[in-house]
Amino acid sequence: KTPYDSLNNNNYLVAIAVNMRESPTHKTGRESMSAKIIDGKQIAAEIRESVREDIASRIARGHRAPGLAVVLVGNDHASQVYVRKKREACEHAGIISSAYDLPAATSQDQLLTLIEELNANDSIDGILVQLPLPRQINEATVIDAIHPDKDVDGFHPYNIGRLTQRNPLLRPCTPWGIILLLDHVGEAYKGRHAVIVGASNIVGRPMCLELLLAGATTTVCHRFTNDLEAHVGRADILIVAVGKPGVVKGEWIKPGATVIDVGINRREDGTLTGDVDFATASERAAWITPVPGGVGPMTVAVLLRNTLEAASRHDSVV
Ligand code: NAD
Repeated sequence: KTPYDSLNNNNYLVAIAVNMRESPTHKTGRESMSAKIIDGKQIAAEIRESVREDIASRIARGHRAPGLAVVLVGNDHASQVYVRKKREACEHAGIISSAYDLPAATSQDQLLTLIEELNANDSIDGILVQLPLPRQINEATVIDAIHPDKDVDGFHPYNIGRLTQRNPLLRPCTPWGIILLLDHVGEAYKGRHAVIVGASNIVGRPMCLELLLAGATTTVCHRFTNDLEAHVGRADILIVAVGKPGVVKGEWIKPGATVIDVGINRREDGTLTGDVDFATASERAAWITPVPGGVGPMTVAVLLRNTLEAASRHDSVV
């Protein structure tokens, strides 16, 4: 049994969680509790290391290194930073990443032609098109064009459909990474109420599907939801993915909840902050992710894992 097998069924993550899990610094009555930090950076590093070892053993068995095409259209600064991080992580893990940096004026047809070539290229196991795309390009059309077997972001309707039908293949990176964080802290899911704030295609909606699959009861809130505070107050597991600092107030959090803050917002001084008021939320939650160092590193780690999975499946068909 390889470490990757263990990763697949999560046993090893759960084992670490069981070792780690102690009751939080829980005081009685109206006194506050102090949340434990979910160290996404450390957990992601463990996953990346296990992917690296699996790739090394795959190569030792005579297979080629997995190949990931990373497509960036335009000069958006944040996208350039994300893409650079993904490429560096690939290199460290032993994945060969090919960079396709296209000018901002690239037409949709030009991008679709490139995707067709990458779909047909046998040394490419995964295709990542960094979002957002420039205005002249329709994102859904581009995602549809990626072969589902190479859709390492897990955004293709086929892969979302598989997740919806409880039979996932390549899973969207951020929600799957959050499930790995929750597994890590020993989350039981069944009988627990998960509230997801944000309903985007890349985070909120697939997050709801993942939590349903895990056995939680789910509520999804979005910009048209009335009385967000009441919904948040009922969450045993709270996932916030909005992109607005302070959209969830710390005093709304149910005492003892697990809080996962997906938001990445840049303050005027250049530092990053999440969507949840961290200081006050930490006084009520049992577990909480920091920003940065929580969900972000998991997204990259899961991308590597998806690329390895795509390569393993690819081997069996070529
Ligand atoms: P999005 O803009 O596509 O979606 C935001 C969602 O929030 C929408 O469903 C909207 O209805 C909802 N919303 C807006 N205002 C609201 C309000 N006042 N109350 C409740 N819901 C509200 O954003 P996204 O792409 O899902 O990203 C959300 C945040 O997560 C951003 O800060 C983004 O940078 C971050 N993000 C982080 C990672 C990571 O790896 N850590 C990955 C993806 C996105």
